[in-house]
Amino acid sequence: MSSARSGKRKATLPGAARSAADLRRDAAISKRVAEWFTEHARVLPWRDLPPGGRDPYRVLVSELMLQQTQASRVAERYPAFLARFPDAGALADADEEDVLALWSGLGYYRRAKHLHAAAKAIEARFGGRMPRDPKELRSIPGVGAYTAGAIASLAFDLPEPAVDGNVTRVFLRLLGEPLSLNTPAAQQLAGEAARSVLTSSAKAGVGPGLINEALIELGATICTPRSPSCERCPLAGLCIAKREGLTDTIPAPKKAAPKKTIHALTVLAIDAAGARLVERRGDGGLWAGLWQAPTVESPEPIDPATARPGGVAPGELLDEFVHETTHRTVRFVVCAPAPGKIKPSTGALWKPTDEIARLGLSSVQRRILLDAPLKARPADKERPPVNKRPSRYAVPAP
Ligand code: SF4
Repeated sequence: MSSARSGKRKATLPGAARSAADLRRDAAISKRVAEWFTEHARVLPWRDLPPGGRDPYRVLVSELMLQQTQASRVAERYPAFLARFPDAGALADADEEDVLALWSGLGYYRRAKHLHAAAKAIEARFGGRMPRDPKELRSIPGVGAYTAGAIASLAFDLPEPAVDGNVTRVFLRLLGEPLSLNTPAAQQLAGEAARSVLTSSAKAGVGPGLINEALIELGATICTPRSPSCERCPLAGLCIAKREGLTDTIPAPKKAAPKKTIHALTVLAIDAAGARLVERRGDGGLWAGLWQAPTVESPEPIDPATARPGGVAPGELLDEFVHETTHRTVRFVVCAPAPGKIKPSTGALWKPTDEIARLGLSSVQRRILLDAPLKARPADKERPPVNKRPSRYAVPAP
């Protein structure tokens, strides 16, 4: 691995021969992270076998779950998912409804669809056995360069880099490179640095699966985006950002795209037996394919006098709150149905709560349909007195 920062070090050149100092540094990195990981790795359910010898299907499941989701949350959901879908064949044969239901709470449901499609591709194209070759792995739906590298190294102990945002950040800081995390230059630099360390570790007889997982763990728990714990870092003595006080400025901040605002008007209809009216979202966009209380959405505020979520006229206001996703601010208004007989539109169905609990639901809809202490007016009953409940959520000024 070559180190670089303009004016003080030689630039890192793709494919450039590494100096003796670089080779010594690579060896030191691989030795230190391997020792650190062996002693400090978190106990997580997908680490039931050592890196390099794991079931590739299980690596695929855990890696897709871990994308943009905290390990603690994945640790809660992973065992139940594996119990229900223990191999690619079981997952390929499952209904998408069941897959989404087991994915509930992990967010980013597109990943669940990719995983389902991946299982079908493994069955159809590879006879149910995950390929070893990184190029073939990348041909599977939902498997990009990072996931292919993770499967190749963690399951087959092949010297493939697995460079996610965490690992990129570690290398940018180690090298003192003030690049933004998701730029092609940063990813190329981190990929080459990681490959270089893997080559060095192989010479020392340390498996690439162990090195990759150690680097990922280091970025997730020590070399964190803000306030990295350099005093506990095994690489502190090698790190240019630490030495030069640049940990706050590397990686360079990315210009955040402004969030979109969506207005959502939801009707919570509950019949005399306690069943809720629900509908399934379309296959594209936010919360694709998940179930919800009938909801209409618009970039502009919605007039309840004209909106008809699921064919139902909104009545008493039950709640209003703001739900933040990574890219959107969703301003929810939840109403009971207006007085009168409810005639749902096609696609809206009455379902009992135990059945709804097994459907794929976003966390916000789970709260509206099952967890929230909202009092929807029972269908076909007298309308209760208007009683605007105080919001349980902070609603910023528009
Ligand atoms: S010393 Fe600090 S900045 Fe450098 S790799 Fe370790 S945690 Fe990250």
